[in-house]
Amino acid sequence: MKQERNYLLLTPGPLTTTDTVKATMLKDWCTWDKDYNTGVVEDIRSRLVSLATASKGYSAVLMQGSGTASVEAVIGSALGKKDKLLVINNGAYGARMKQIAQVLGVALTSLDYPETSVPAADDIAAILSRDPSITHVALVHCETTTGMLNPINAIAKRVKQHNKCLIVDAMSSFGGIEMDIGELGIDFLISSANKCIQGVPGFGFIIAKRSSLEACKDQARSLSLDLYAQWHMMETQQGKWRFTSPTHVVRAFQQALNELDAEGGVAARALRYQENQRRLVEGMANLGFSALLAREWQSPIISSFHAPTEKSYKFEDFYAALKQQGYVIYPGKVSKADCFRIGNIGDIHPQDIDLLLKAINNAQQLWR
Ligand SMILES: *Cc1c(COP(=O)(O)O)cnc(C)c1O
Repeated sequence: MKQERNYLLLTPGPLTTTDTVKATMLKDWCTWDKDYNTGVVEDIRSRLVSLATASKGYSAVLMQGSGTASVEAVIGSALGKKDKLLVINNGAYGARMKQIAQVLGVALTSLDYPETSVPAADDIAAILSRDPSITHVALVHCETTTGMLNPINAIAKRVKQHNKCLIVDAMSSFGGIEMDIGELGIDFLISSANKCIQGVPGFGFIIAKRSSLEACKDQARSLSLDLYAQWHMMETQQGKWRFTSPTHVVRAFQQALNELDAEGGVAARALRYQENQRRLVEGMANLGFSALLAREWQSPIISSFHAPTEKSYKFEDFYAALKQQGYVIYPGKVSKADCFRIGNIGDIHPQDIDLLLKAINNAQQLWR
């Protein structure tokens, strides 16, 4: 069934999905039946672990809600009463992890950087040496605020040298950037259905060391976001969720995983996103737009551009002109610079980027 397309979403979640992913949602599933539990949920859980690592000892948990609910489940369950969290913060999603810890009453310290700065592994090592009460470190992999790819390899290495539990918000990067979480020693990796796996929104997931999941028992600060309880039920009752699961969305996610495999896995998808991003930044430069970040820190996920300086430029008008031509972009999220953002993930291909650049060229007459 061919759906009529409103516009392409050049936004990193929800993003543009294929018709075949959307079509799987036309069937109803029983949340307690084995067709769903073993056929869909267990299949997804084991495939997520395989995508994340070749190491043994990892398991996956699916959690209702948007991605933030899964971050909240991890922070609220992984830290015990005597534990203390260090959040590395260089953007809105780092700031959100701090806010979650504050709301939940989790002991917190943070290393804060301006949004356009790269967190330094040495700074993190220094704070870990200075404050031995820190037990957990949380980091955002791709900071979707700017599109910055934080240096996860260097940071993970230092965190593990200090023997701390490592929590990574890889919401916008998992499935779009190659990485082995076992090699990095990551304890908890968090992502959601509507980002690089290219599913529709409705749940998040956590891929974690079994030993780290076991350690969450009886620690949760929330009933519905109890990571251990959710994992334990899925693990011991063949993929059962504790409360009503978003069945249609979960089935669509399984289809999205099939399509990821068909594309050639994460390596092939990463190449497509990189090519989208390369064409975008190059084409935008030709149109006179400069990127917020230096090339070496730009992720292939989303790019921030400085807004035109002409007085007659208004983001709302630019947005409307692009939407009318079939493209939806994102406003900026950087506090100190006037920017807008364009996502490269989803069912978006290099030829879409070429057409988008034509549409942007047309829209420029609004202020030129
Ligand atoms: C999308 C995203 C989230 C989660 O956002 P939700 O709106 O709760 O789905 C968290 N962290 C990062 C880095 C993200 O890109």
